[in-house]
Amino acid sequence: MRAVRLTGPGTLELMDVPVPEPGPGEVRIKVGAAGACHSDLHILDAPAGAYPVPMTLGHEIAGTVDRAGDGVTAWRPGDRAAIYGIQGCGHCRGCLSGRENQCRTVPVGGVGLSRDGGLAEYVVVPASRLLPTGDLELTQAAPLTDAGLTPYHAVELVRPALRPGTFCVVIGIGGLGHMAVQILAATTAVTVIAVDTSDAALELATRVGAHHTFRSDAEAAGRIRALVDDPPDGADVVLDFVSVDATTRLGRTVVATGGHLLLVGLGGGQLTLKPTAEEPPPVPLEVTARIPFWGTRAELQEVIALARLGRVHTEVETFPLEETVRAYERLRAGDIRGRAVIVP
Ligand code: NAD
Ligand code: ZN
Ligand code: ZN
Repeated sequence: MRAVRLTGPGTLELMDVPVPEPGPGEVRIKVGAAGACHSDLHILDAPAGAYPVPMTLGHEIAGTVDRAGDGVTAWRPGDRAAIYGIQGCGHCRGCLSGRENQCRTVPVGGVGLSRDGGLAEYVVVPASRLLPTGDLELTQAAPLTDAGLTPYHAVELVRPALRPGTFCVVIGIGGLGHMAVQILAATTAVTVIAVDTSDAALELATRVGAHHTFRSDAEAAGRIRALVDDPPDGADVVLDFVSVDATTRLGRTVVATGGHLLLVGLGGGQLTLKPTAEEPPPVPLEVTARIPFWGTRAELQEVIALARLGRVHTEVETFPLEETVRAYERLRAGDIRGRAVIVP
């Protein structure tokens, strides 16, 4: 079968590999769709040794059960499923509490991260990773497993703060951010303020339910403050899907006293607490900063339910497997709206 594999730092290759066989407790999935996540670009940029090679990338997968290994009774060939990509150790306190995204032993383990992923015709995963998707299109189901799940989890972490009348700033309206806007619109009554460097991304934000949009530039903080400061207030929640210096600075400037900064993006920026000449206001008191990671299996089930109700819909551009490298190049160039999804 054909698979897109990470073969070294910065190197992706489309190659022929044997079709994998499911072991006991595993299933082989015929991949119907696999999302191209910005995290894959961070994986490509990582130094040698950070990830196993060669490894098939792709951690956002939906497909059809092709073959069930020994002992698998809940799934049959032909069943459609989304794959919960995280695979923790199963033994630590995080895993045992149902939060494999907090695994103490394998902090970033999973399909397409520590074992072969879904940018291939077939992928083998433990049967425990599968969730039913009903009649959702597979190109819709795949992005839910990360672009949907990760913002859903972030919103869950701060749900008590998302009261009617409060403001939520969403920075970076890409694969994750455009889902965050919809999750907020579908499950809260907050005012959603979307921020991006791209006008096309801001148009998408408006289309999927953002109430206000702002260009991410030097004026953004002042414009947002003018909106949320009448009377003086601030944004109760800032969801940063970029997390470079410019966006962490924006977040800390617009967050309300007692508010929440969620740094979901892996942009490597710094969150500075000390006021400096360029950023006079100190971080407001009682602010909580968090670094969410992906989400739980139970949360994925809820995201799938939201999609099946028609309350969230991923903006998708599809590519054949042969064009995976081009899809990632366009993602890096900021030239994808919503999610690029590979259909092998
Ligand atoms: P994406 O490329 O689809 O979207 C990024 C968006 O941010 C684009 O619309 C882009 O125009 C915008 N942007 C870039 N620079 C900006 C700036 N300075 N200000 C405002 N907007 C800016 O990426 P994605 O797949 O949605 O992923 C977003 C980030 O989240 C990545 O860093 C990714 O690695 C990370 N991520 C984290 C987790 C987690 O569990 N923490 C999970 C998945 C992805
Ligand atoms: Zn991802
Ligand atoms: Zn664990």
